[in-house]
Formats: sequence, structure tokens, C-alpha cells
Amino acid sequence: MTANDSKCKVLMIYTGGTIGMLPKEEGNPISPLVPAKWERFKDFVPSLRDIPLDIDLHEMTPIDSSDMHPDYWIDIARVIRDNYEDFDGFVILHGTDTMTYTATALSFLLENLDRPVIMTGSQSPISQPRSDAVQNMVTSLILAAGKSFNLPLIPEVCICFNNVILRGNRARKVSSSSYSGFTSPNYPPLGEAGKYIKIDTKVIQKPSTKGFFINENLEKGVMLFDVFPGISPKILDSLFSIDGLKGIVFRTYGAGNAPTNKDFLKEIEKATCERNLMIVNITQCNQGMVEMGLYDASATLLRLGVISGMDMTPEAALVKMMFLFGLGYDIKIVKEQMQKNLRGEQSIDLFNQERKNF
Ligand code: ASP
Repeated sequence: MTANDSKCKVLMIYTGGTIGMLPKEEGNPISPLVPAKWERFKDFVPSLRDIPLDIDLHEMTPIDSSDMHPDYWIDIARVIRDNYEDFDGFVILHGTDTMTYTATALSFLLENLDRPVIMTGSQSPISQPRSDAVQNMVTSLILAAGKSFNLPLIPEVCICFNNVILRGNRARKVSSSSYSGFTSPNYPPLGEAGKYIKIDTKVIQKPSTKGFFINENLEKGVMLFDVFPGISPKILDSLFSIDGLKGIVFRTYGAGNAPTNKDFLKEIEKATCERNLMIVNITQCNQGMVEMGLYDASATLLRLGVISGMDMTPEAALVKMMFLFGLGYDIKIVKEQMQKNLRGEQSIDLFNQERKNF
């Protein structure tokens, strides 16, 4: 890639993950990997010195992203807010395990974004000779500084991994080892990074023209649950009585189908009507969308007040609920907002959906 004269400034935020891990017992390559300070890796990234950009590093507490939590997401959002005016773009180095959750959370926490926030990491530590880290990191820096390389601006929270650039709140980790570890099954890639970087401007969000700010509240009383054959009403009863629970992302079969027996449906009714819980229906399938009412096996759920999560990823449905309850809305508004496309996380608003002829 050739750079022009507009030398962009990029802030690289390091949060840990495999990219910055070393064996716990130094010198013992088979001891478990633990996150290390970024300083330990400076020598492994020679190409950074050759990139014609102004790159600053902000180091957060390095963690295995399995330890990621909503308070840490808010801390990342605060780092971006505090540096927003000084940088043209941001790169977040992050573990791959929960990268899609963090990308989704940031897409909701960062309000009125007009510049790139690119998340990346690697499947092998940067200190290993065959690591995918340098390529992922350098491509992400180039995307964050698109202007310097005559690339279109991507004013979104994205995941850049191997050769794809994905909308963060549409992405899923699909492999624990492949260098092509992420896809976005219900939305086209925003771009491709081979020898040349190609951005598909038709599928990118427009930059906001309003003032940037961040949201700093997320509701933690939410959960994800998979329906399975033979699920007992007792399990549902104890699940729905968890103290402080406000909403559940219910992963059902196919187009949103669930058991139709009366005991199962009674528990759902108790949850939505008596306990005033919000239940959002998404599919266990890797691809496709919930269409409640298409089968009888989902029509009753709809009648009982279960909300359609359309084609959202589990991460998007869960984090969107955390975000909406975090704004302090009451459940009626949360239900309404939940079915609207707020950050490109679902393909259509339920309210605009045409009635199917089935
Ligand atoms: N456990 C690691 C993490 O998510 C895995 C990775 O980064 O690939 O932090």
C-alpha cells in the first residue's frame, strides 16, 4: 500500500489476548499462555516502524478475553472518548474468544461515530514465527488510517481478521484455530484484504454528523439460553425466577421454533406476563432469521409477547438488551427498540417487515 502525505494519527489500544501472550513459565513452551505487557513484544513488530503513520499505544490491563466484562467495555469506550479528537482512527488489540461481544458492545456504547474503530487479534502469539499477528495488526492500522492510504473511510466498529473486514456486531468467531477465524453469516463483509485492500462502500454505515459521546451504563441482569429437546419446565421455572433477571435471549430452532407442549408454554407465559421478563427469540442456526408465526411452533410465542431477534447474532441480541436496559428504558420501550435496527446489527426493523403469505 502506498501512503499519501496526510499522515494520520492512530491510537492502538492493547487489551491482551493471544496476540500478546507468552508461556506462563518462561522457557517452557508447553506451559499455559498468559497475557503479557506490550513492552515484551516491541521487538516482534519491526514493520510498525516502517508504516508512515503516527501510532500511539494505550495499554490497558492485559487479560485473556475470557475475563472480559461490561465494565471493561465501558473502560475501552472511555479511552476512545478521551482521545477521540486527537486521533483519526482506533485499533483495539483483543483476544479472539470474546472479540465479537466487545465489538458489539462498542458499536452501542460509541454514539455518533465518524471514524474507524478496528478490532483485531491473532490465533498465535506475536512472538511465534508463523503468527498471524503482524498481518492482522498492520492491516488494521492501515484501515484505521484509511485517509493516508486513499482508502474509503469506515466509520464503524469492525473486526479485521486475516483477509476480511467485518461489521463487528454481525461477526462471529467460527474457528478456534484457523487464521480465517471470523465470518459474518448474515451480512456481507465490509471489505477484503488480500494483496490489495478493497472496501465495499455500499455496505458501510454513513459517518455521523452529530456530536460524538459514549454511553456508560450496561444492564447485567440478562442471559443467553439454548432451548433443547426434552427441556424440563422446572429448568425454565428456576431460570426465570433468577433474582435481578430482566431479559433472556432465547436461542430456539430454525426460524424461531420451540416446543408446543402446554407446560413449556405455561412457563413462557409466566415469564413474560407475570414476571414481566423480556424474552428475545433468535435462532440456533448459524445463518438465517427468526420468522415468528411461520410455523405454529412459534406462533404461540409471538402471542405470549416473545420478541423477534430477527437475524441478530447471539452477541448482538444479548448486548443490545444490556444497552437498552442500561439506558433506563422501561420494558415497553426496550421491546420496541429491540426490534429496530439501531447500529446495523439486524437486517430489517420488525415494524417494516411485510407480512408473509404462508
Ligand atoms: N483465549 C484467548 C483470548 O481470547 C484466545 C485468543 O486471543 O485467540 O484472549
